[in-house]
Amino acid sequence: MVQDTLNLQKSDRLTTPLASIITIGDELLIGQTIDTNSAYIAQQLNTLGIWVRRRVAVGDNREDILAALREESLHSSILILTGGLGPTADDITKPLLCDYFGSRLIRDESVLTHIEHLFEKVYKRPGVLLERNRKQADVPDNCTVLHNPSGTAPGMLFIKEGVIYISLPGVPREMKDLMQTAVLPYLEKNTTRPYIFHKSILTCGIGESMLAELLSEFEQSLPNHISLAYLPNYGMVKLRLTAKSNSATHLKEELHQLAQQLCALTAEYLVTDQDISMEALIGQLLLKQNKTVATAESCTGGLIAHQLSTVAGASAYLKGSVVCYANDVKEKLLGVQPTTLLQKGAVSEETVIEMATGAVRVLQSHVAIAVSGIMGPGGGSPEKPVGTVYMAVSDGERTITQRLRLGFDRARNTHQTALFALNLLRKFLTAP
Ligand code: AMP
Ligand code: MG
Repeated sequence: MVQDTLNLQKSDRLTTPLASIITIGDELLIGQTIDTNSAYIAQQLNTLGIWVRRRVAVGDNREDILAALREESLHSSILILTGGLGPTADDITKPLLCDYFGSRLIRDESVLTHIEHLFEKVYKRPGVLLERNRKQADVPDNCTVLHNPSGTAPGMLFIKEGVIYISLPGVPREMKDLMQTAVLPYLEKNTTRPYIFHKSILTCGIGESMLAELLSEFEQSLPNHISLAYLPNYGMVKLRLTAKSNSATHLKEELHQLAQQLCALTAEYLVTDQDISMEALIGQLLLKQNKTVATAESCTGGLIAHQLSTVAGASAYLKGSVVCYANDVKEKLLGVQPTTLLQKGAVSEETVIEMATGAVRVLQSHVAIAVSGIMGPGGGSPEKPVGTVYMAVSDGERTITQRLRLGFDRARNTHQTALFALNLLRKFLTAP
């Protein structure tokens, strides 16, 4: 990712508008709230082809906020502020902006109507509107009001000496809504930016360093206006190609061709060439094949089923899960043979095969995933050390298995197991 943005800085700086993000609130400075707003805004602006040159966090302090506004407006043509718009005394952004832009506050009737609507119909608190709530409808007379569909504090847009200032509420959900509905469309329309296209693919089972080795020649051959970003996340690496140019001609085709090369080079590890998650891809595969899935989990506590359930509409294919830590639960609910458990152990290939076939039978699914392993820190043996995991995917007739040797702590071992189990299911579903 670092490399991706650096390329933007180097090659397109002259044609790229520069932005600063100023996040406001004492809670950010004392570490009580993590500043996720500026990360989100930076990502969104970057996608649009706007380079964020600085992110500044300041407290609820008049002089500090004013100093940040003056300083950032010297170098950036877009300033985005979040926070300090609440109804309480510590939120001082609005009167401060009035001073900065030489404006006075006027009541905006459409904002007031919206606030009344929120209190009556959404918060279900009719008749309790306080003057401090009404005051949130007061806006500087020289700003453009940005309608905040999900909250009481509107966004505000000012232009001064060629610099665009946008002030947004600090509540992340409201900030995001406003970014999507008002800020990004406005910037898209009112700034000149390079054309920018992204194409992402997802890999699993290879670390980013190994991937970088595998792709070093490809990376070196990339033209200046196209960059490759590595976005690793728990056993998976998303690869994102970004093409930026002042001319859109052929840019998409060029990106498409390079993405195809990237897919071919990473074929062994390629999960999908779409910009979606592993569980969303599995959902697509199951729906397309008209199949249902079940899980039998003896070391992931239901995490595999949970991951599958995060996709909207998952109940169309996720039948259920048996979380079976005790041997008698494996026997009684899934029909695992006592002799298998006795002779091979709960953490064995034989056991997970019986768990998977048992889940297909008992939960009446087309396929099932089963996992059993030692997540640590205790419970290992020389023969089966901590991090040993057996996994099986079966439809009752065809079965595939995999053994893992993980070396992380308990939480990460569990997370990796769930991910690799989903990857095994993906392989099962896509096998020729
Ligand atoms: P405010 O608009 O200053 O009243 O902020 C409302 C709430 O939004 C705060 O109490 C924080 O919980 C949250 N918040 C404010 N700024 C940020 C930020 N930069 N990142 C994440 N959350 C924030
Ligand atoms: Mg605040």
